Amino acid sequence: MIEQHTVIYGIGVSTGTANAGVVKVLPAPGVDTNEPASTDPAADGERVRAAMASVAASLKAQAEHASPKARPILEATAQLASDRALAKAVVKKLKQGSGVTRAVHDATEDYAQLLAGLGGYMAERVTDLYDVRDRTICELRGLPKPGVPDITEPAILLADDLAPAETVGLNPELVVGIVTAGGGPTSHTAILAAQLGIPAVVKARGVMDIAEGTHVAIDGGAGEVIVHPTDDEVADLRRRTERREAALAESTGAGVTADGYPVALLANIGTAEDGAAAAARDVEGTGLFRTEFLFLDRESAPSLEEQTETYSRVLEAFGTRRVVVRTLDAGADKPLSFANLGEEENPALGRRGLRLSQAREDLLDTQLDALAAAYEATGRTADLRVMAPMVATVEEATWFADKARGRGLPKVGIMIEIPAAAIASKQLLSVVDFASIGTNDLSQYTMAADRMQGALSDLLSPWQPAVLQMIKATCLGGDATGKPISVCGEAGGDPLLALVLVGLGVSSLSMAVSKVPAVRAALRLHDRATCQQMAAYALDAVTAADAKAAVSALVNPKMRDLL
Ligand code: PEP
Ligand code: MG
Repeated sequence: MIEQHTVIYGIGVSTGTANAGVVKVLPAPGVDTNEPASTDPAADGERVRAAMASVAASLKAQAEHASPKARPILEATAQLASDRALAKAVVKKLKQGSGVTRAVHDATEDYAQLLAGLGGYMAERVTDLYDVRDRTICELRGLPKPGVPDITEPAILLADDLAPAETVGLNPELVVGIVTAGGGPTSHTAILAAQLGIPAVVKARGVMDIAEGTHVAIDGGAGEVIVHPTDDEVADLRRRTERREAALAESTGAGVTADGYPVALLANIGTAEDGAAAAARDVEGTGLFRTEFLFLDRESAPSLEEQTETYSRVLEAFGTRRVVVRTLDAGADKPLSFANLGEEENPALGRRGLRLSQAREDLLDTQLDALAAAYEATGRTADLRVMAPMVATVEEATWFADKARGRGLPKVGIMIEIPAAAIASKQLLSVVDFASIGTNDLSQYTMAADRMQGALSDLLSPWQPAVLQMIKATCLGGDATGKPISVCGEAGGDPLLALVLVGLGVSSLSMAVSKVPAVRAALRLHDRATCQQMAAYALDAVTAADAKAAVSALVNPKMRDLL
């Protein structure tokens, strides 16, 4: 455990500073590999029953204070922990000679297979069942329960990594900072933290050695984690924040370069609440509504009525501004319990994104119907655009465009996230109205580097020459067809890279709403010709580091306070 003043460096992914005690998110403990085989199955069975009863009771207690969204999930999970058939199955394993935690693990696995085989609602319960398994094993092993703990006062959350469903439920008033040992700048923890406006540092090695409750200060811009900070360090962090805020306060309004070239600045959102919060800020709309976040922590897909209501709220919140809705992008790092197409060896290369929509057309049809109904219900006032994720071919783009246009949706686009789509952007753009580059996945697929792998974050940098070439290729397709190109991956929210993207030909940038002011201020400091020169330097560079250094040499010195 780290007991003295220590500074750990990670990657800053959501700007801002925080200063509080830490609360740890513990991983699931798994089976106790040293436990003896059961010699008294009746007594051990009673121990397991008592552990399950205690898990059920704590879940019920948690449900009472949970949000309306989380309550039914916790109640349903509590019911599973009270399931007599499961307890009986554990006793059977004990009689066969398993130790207690092994028996719980194996009996749950059999039960999970059974539920998965039944399909539908039953199959959707598998995630909850695993939650019961992990909590019961912790109870039996006398370990604290895994997952995000109940937080009652402001704290910095420490984790190896966080699942999207865990991050999406965090309360920014209590979780004032996030630090993970793993992850990377484009992992969903990073994206959601920035969206929630919570300062965050990822890939901070060794942070799980910080003891629960230790005082820590973080800078989510610089990627610094200070354990046991001195008063001077806390004061210095406060000064950094003040300088930055003063620099940002100077620019407001539409995105524009120093010489007046417009670059729309938009917010990425994941829920109707995010939409309302972003719409109240100084942004020109939303450039990426990640609708899968409406589905992530659900047992079943929201109904047509519920989706219509949600989309109407978002459209209404933005008035006449731009609203780019991305249809369901599930699979791989964003699994959905009710749209599981079975095990895949390589889920990131499997049936995810639009491919999953092709296998589950019902989900996409309901979504598009709901969107069309919401557009009508709100008087067709918003500048509504709908786009598909993970498009690789013209056939896929046409399939999607026909469906969307068939419902009267005014503008149809695609995300460029796969190298094939970047290279063939001219052909793809000829069948749609616009494209938005998902630099997170485009980097992952160009560099063959898993975006969830913190250890590969250098390869995943959008400054990599090959990734910049992909972006350039996409913009050339945009030029050839006269269709606009946007960027909605994390690269768009990096003030320095944003200048390069504009120089490459991108006409709008969408990012976590907390990142808009710094990008706007950066654009106002540079004219379009400088952005183009930066793009030329970046494209000429032989390494990612050279590209960044060459561009940095051209920046206005006032940029320093923005980073
Ligand atoms: C991207 O890949 O850059 C993107 C915006 O989509 P997501 O991060 O949701 O995969
Ligand atoms: Mg993506």
